[in-house]
Amino acid sequence: MKHLCAVIFCLLSLSLSAVPSQQQTVGAAPAPPVLQGFFSASIANELNLETKFRSIPRPENMREYMRIMSAHPHHVGSPWDKQNAEWMLARFKEWGWQAEIENFDVLFPTPKERRLEMIAPARFVAKLAEPPISIDPTSNQQAEQLPPYNAYSLDGDVTGPLVYVNYGTRDDYEDLDRLGISVKGAIVIARYGNSWRGIKPKVAAEHGAIGCIIYSDPADDGYAQGDVYPRGAMRNKDAVQRGAVTDTYYAGDPLTPGWGSVPGAKRLAIKDSPQITKIPVLPISYADAQPLLAAIQGPVAPEKWHGALPITYHVGPGAARVHLVVKSNWDTKRLYDVIARLPGSDSPEQWVLRGNHHDAWVNGASDPLSGMVAELEEARAMGQLYKDGWRPKRTIIYCAWDGEEPGLLGSTEWLETHIADVQQHAVAYINSDNNARGFLRVSGSHSLEKFVNGVARDVEDPEKHISIWQRSHLLQIANARGAEEREEIRKRADFRIRALGDGSDYASFLDHAGIAAVDMRFGGEDREGQYHSIYDDFYWFTHFSDTDFAYGRALAQTAGTAVMRLADADLLPFDFVDQADTIRTYLKELQKLLKSEQDESKERNLELSEGVFNAISDPQRPMLPPAHLDTPPTINFAPLENGAEALTRAAQHYDAVVRKLNEPGANAIPRDALESLNAKIFQSERLFLTDKGLPGRPWFKHQIYAPGAYTGYAVKTMPAVRESLEQRQWAQAETGAQTVGEALSREAMLVDEIASELERVGKLPPDKATQAPIEHR
Ligand SMILES: [Zn+2]
Repeated sequence: MKHLCAVIFCLLSLSLSAVPSQQQTVGAAPAPPVLQGFFSASIANELNLETKFRSIPRPENMREYMRIMSAHPHHVGSPWDKQNAEWMLARFKEWGWQAEIENFDVLFPTPKERRLEMIAPARFVAKLAEPPISIDPTSNQQAEQLPPYNAYSLDGDVTGPLVYVNYGTRDDYEDLDRLGISVKGAIVIARYGNSWRGIKPKVAAEHGAIGCIIYSDPADDGYAQGDVYPRGAMRNKDAVQRGAVTDTYYAGDPLTPGWGSVPGAKRLAIKDSPQITKIPVLPISYADAQPLLAAIQGPVAPEKWHGALPITYHVGPGAARVHLVVKSNWDTKRLYDVIARLPGSDSPEQWVLRGNHHDAWVNGASDPLSGMVAELEEARAMGQLYKDGWRPKRTIIYCAWDGEEPGLLGSTEWLETHIADVQQHAVAYINSDNNARGFLRVSGSHSLEKFVNGVARDVEDPEKHISIWQRSHLLQIANARGAEEREEIRKRADFRIRALGDGSDYASFLDHAGIAAVDMRFGGEDREGQYHSIYDDFYWFTHFSDTDFAYGRALAQTAGTAVMRLADADLLPFDFVDQADTIRTYLKELQKLLKSEQDESKERNLELSEGVFNAISDPQRPMLPPAHLDTPPTINFAPLENGAEALTRAAQHYDAVVRKLNEPGANAIPRDALESLNAKIFQSERLFLTDKGLPGRPWFKHQIYAPGAYTGYAVKTMPAVRESLEQRQWAQAETGAQTVGEALSREAMLVDEIASELERVGKLPPDKATQAPIEHR
């Protein structure tokens, strides 16, 4: 009943959302502590709890968890994958969590036949194997290891001429066109890097290739970068990068798009899944690649295509012909997701989610256990606080996902199974994956940018003993391109966080369900070349990466502090000023992109008419002129401009209200009003979703963030506009601008509504400066 609220007033006012947290003091008299999202009465207790929490994680525990969990290969369907899940389940329970395993049945192909041989001009049979190394004690577990392969490659037996396609991106094929070389009927060999691996067979097939080989060039993660394993951390000549190669229509089980693959669920026929590649694909080492590449003739490859092998890189085709056979066992395998809860006291229906995957391609010490062990240590520490009497306001849910490697299977299937509940209850999702020494790297929803900055200010860097915030901020200054960018970094209160694309379990939460998400990890000091090989194991990690687990502890401290702060906050620490600011930068980028496409088209067409390309082409090394380009029309960005403008104004309104609530003598907010306001705050991310989703990719519903359809990992912000511009779909770009603009306007309306409600329940006079009516056009 409403009138009773008075007795459960939160007595003191809100902290300034714009002020950095408690470590910042001004002048001689220390300012009272401030903490974004907390009433003054709750701040001391929260900071005290968080400090206690950060003192608990122990590097030696993380080392032991990693030793146990990486003792055997633990890919989907392996005995050790299940064993690890059960072992973690027991730990969560021991630490006082309510925990269970949820199972899903998913398509997980494993190798049945792999063969790659050159049949002309000389015969060569690829080894396709990674040998054990005597000083590395788990590298000899061959009977348990999945051999090198690309999961979800189509079965095939193909023979054809070999063509080198560099990284195999669409730009690389444009270069090939100008060299007059077609890959129709050919088997292409592409190097790893520059795009997600699944893009390589996709683009190859679109250009008519019949098979695809992917190899790791030593230029990218081998000897050109440092000593190779086991002398150093880099990829040796036999190490192969495994990995999934699905298409980019959706994440999760290729046979259950949009619904959970619970045991017994309906499933597509394999032949009907758009996610399976259109041509066979196989990954190889550079020892296997070198004879193939050396045999290719035809034009010398453009300079930027040269790798670090001691050969001259040719494009082909020529006499080199290869025979490629890829066949899989197309089995259904069981996933084991571990889901653990600490129930909330005040708002148990609001959930703070945290996850890391536990499955690997082989022993997976770095990927994923370096992140998983930090998450486990957080859970142990929170369990200890819970035993000592701490009760988080909101429910905390810790997830150890299975099946991330083949395609975010465990997280996506869990989300799709529980989507109505998750969309109703989830405040945010915090993800990690592999972790290493160095700098904090955060990507995520920009409504949480300020929040993440606040957390980073409170965690100490183990090597430099300054805050991880300061270290990342100073790195950004060091890496800035030019004086203008440096000035912006120095002036801005918060460091910018990057937008999320794809590459770990956050993707489905954000892109499909509109749950605000953050991915955090440390790294940047060590080069790594073990990725997805048998050498990513305990020996490698404890000799060449975060060997003392100091950054494992830093990750546990950072992610755990973030979880606790979200779980305990009075008013959820979302902020829309940084969000609106970031959205304006995207809008500017899109306008610039259109302008540069217009300029480039005009210039190219002029040069074509002038005969420039013909005149400069060397008859002995001919380059064909590029294609004529349609000049892009003017595109109406007004809906986007209006949406961004409305959001900026609403964000300022919200910020002004929160500031006023912090002033001395401000009225308190009744707790039941807070509960519903908080629900509106975290629902704000959902407003960026549309039912129809992105053009051609309806499963991807978020209109601000998506992985690129032709980049895979790398994000495309405002994808309905940006990708349409890049693909020269002008009408679709204009429709996209309308759709995204409407999403921004919806967001602005909600933020403004929350601000007005805060004004009402906090009995503040309406804010004149920011309350001009927002127009919705
Ligand atoms: Zn991973």
